[in-house]
Amino acid sequence: MEFSVKTTKAKDLVDITDKVEELVSECGISEGICLVYVPHATAAIIINEFEPNIKQDFGDVFEKLFPNGNYLHNRIDDNAQAHLKSGFIGPSVVIPVDDGALQLGTWQSIILCEFDGPRERRVIVKVVGK
Ligand code: ZN
Repeated sequence: MEFSVKTTKAKDLVDITDKVEELVSECGISEGICLVYVPHATAAIIINEFEPNIKQDFGDVFEKLFPNGNYLHNRIDDNAQAHLKSGFIGPSVVIPVDDGALQLGTWQSIILCEFDGPRERRVIVKVVGK
């Protein structure tokens, strides 16, 4: 299963929880695990609270951890910073499924991190279980 997300900014965090939950409920598996994966080298997936202030805080910290610099890859397509963020944060998360529902905590959302947008991003969802 997969869906796509059209990001609208160069750098952004997008809540994709509802769409993943919809696919999990459609697949009819009651107990198992759900993989959420982006096949992209300049995007990432995290699980965390999704509200405007922490969204801004994440953006600020990403910039501090991976500042613009004289990276070698910038000679190719000038987006090394986005590759570094994506590589360190990672392209996927795995979430337990119980009673047909993602076992996310009250303050947890599944968040697509866009580091080199705006672009159309694929999100692949695999649910295995019984
Ligand atoms: Zn590149």
